[in-house]
Amino acid sequence: NAPTAELQALDAAHHLHPFTHGAGLRDKGARVITRAEGVWLTDSEGERILDAMAGLWCVNVGYGRKELAAAAARQMEELPYYNTFFQTTHVPAIQLAAKLAELAPGDLNHVFFASSGSEANDTNIRLVRTYWAEKGEPQRDVIIGRWNGYHGSSVGSGSLGGMKGMHAQGGMPIPGIHHIDQPDWWSEGGDMSPEDFGLARARALEAAIERIGPDRVGAFIAEPVQGAGGVIVAPETYWPEVQRIVDKYGILLIADEVICGFGRTGNWFGSQTLGVSPHIMTVAKGLSSGYQPIGGSIVNDEVAAVISGTEFNHGYTYSGHPVACAVALENLRILEEEGVVDRVREETGPYLKARFEELADHPLVGEAKIVGMMGSIALTPDKATRAPFAADAGTAGYICRERCFANNLVMRHVGDRMIVSPPLVISKEEIDTLIERARRSLDEAHAQLTE
Ligand code: PLP
Repeated sequence: NAPTAELQALDAAHHLHPFTHGAGLRDKGARVITRAEGVWLTDSEGERILDAMAGLWCVNVGYGRKELAAAAARQMEELPYYNTFFQTTHVPAIQLAAKLAELAPGDLNHVFFASSGSEANDTNIRLVRTYWAEKGEPQRDVIIGRWNGYHGSSVGSGSLGGMKGMHAQGGMPIPGIHHIDQPDWWSEGGDMSPEDFGLARARALEAAIERIGPDRVGAFIAEPVQGAGGVIVAPETYWPEVQRIVDKYGILLIADEVICGFGRTGNWFGSQTLGVSPHIMTVAKGLSSGYQPIGGSIVNDEVAAVISGTEFNHGYTYSGHPVACAVALENLRILEEEGVVDRVREETGPYLKARFEELADHPLVGEAKIVGMMGSIALTPDKATRAPFAADAGTAGYICRERCFANNLVMRHVGDRMIVSPPLVISKEEIDTLIERARRSLDEAHAQLTE
């Protein structure tokens, strides 16, 4: 490879990065990742970095799995591409759809493929609207999402999400998308108990349905555990109440499982961990452990029957791409045969939880919350009042993330929350290393913030 500085200069000159503040990148240069194995990244300087984010929450089986490379190579030689439009199909798409029907709970038996979570959620908007139109209620075109929820970066999926910075770019949300407040007790719960707050935030859904009109609302979309919003774990009262409201008004529940799916929460799907029954699930990321871009909408028998009765004017060139499907199938085989999901639930997940929650004794840390292998710590100058850091929100988190990176640990920050979501194959020893580096980074950030 060319020297690091040369690569960084070319990168800064020609490569526009997603979600990145350009100036900082140009000043410092992006770290060039060259290889990866298990939970370890290697950069162009030969440094080994523990990836406690599994890339972007997706490399569930870890890096360097030769079986996945072999599955891709085999499929590329046999049938590198064919589409699934109109009246054609192919073996990898058939097998993957059948496998997902087997893994998904209840009668979620039908899959519409896409290449990403964003595309799958765009699909969901049209699925919902087509479904209600076919049922003779075309006015039921409203979908309710949550502020600070994340469902993707396209105009449609970004509208379902409630990232205000994204909406501020204009034209979003698209018509017919409404938002309710998130169940983030730490930041927004005030003096309420978590239980009361969870109920109140669930009942905001009912209030929104009544305000908009029960005959106008078609669906509610939410992540079982909000990921990109900061790993917000709702109080226990929240989901049962949401389920009650969804059932009462007969609206479709879309569980966005893009992060939570495929073992992240200790079950195949986050809905199972939280005890909710969606009519539609969005999947991506862990479906292929990120080795190929693939996503999908898994719908139940009733939704599939209704949609199948009409022409559904929607589809992507790469819907059910054979190479992506073949890699996803092999990835699911690994997750299943190696008992990865069970290990997260019964062994390494509880171990990570115990070690991660120890961080709550750090002077900078207010709470540590973790479900399976997705967790976050809230940084605060005052644990008792759960106060945010003054003025420039995000600074403490940013400092902490930079310290982690300097200590060869990838943790992400969302405002003043620090997140972990490691590959699900992380060992107990590697968990110890993760916690040791996180604590060292917190100490350094604390020193920097209080100097
Ligand atoms: N939904 C959720 C819950 C996500 O976390 C993400 C990405 O982080 C998406 C959807 C969008 O997926 P993609 O980036 O593959 O388009």
